[in-house]
Amino acid sequence: MSTADEQGPGAAPARRHRPRLLHEEEVRLADGWTSAWRVRCTCGLQGPHRPGRPGKRAAEADREEHLQSVAPPQSERCRDLRSHRTTWWDACPVCAHQMALPGM
Ligand SMILES: [Zn+2]
Ligand SMILES: [Zn+2]
Repeated sequence: MSTADEQGPGAAPARRHRPRLLHEEEVRLADGWTSAWRVRCTCGLQGPHRPGRPGKRAAEADREEHLQSVAPPQSERCRDLRSHRTTWWDACPVCAHQMALPGM
């Protein structure tokens, strides 16, 4: 008898959001087949199908909405995205660490 624990080590990597717009050529909708856009994020989110030409803008709006929903509050967002190599919607460990320092 063995109790196999296949789970990885405890250090879970930070979940990042890298949403992409996908263009799907054949999507079945109520009124037939069409092409559609949808947003898909590395966190597992899949947006709804946004059919047709205006679908791209709708999917972009879905992406923006998702980022807004996962982003930290304005005051906790990274203040130097390039140096810290992060994005405005990811919690920045560098800035979070700096805010913990006393003496401001
Ligand atoms: Zn996401
Ligand atoms: Zn930062």
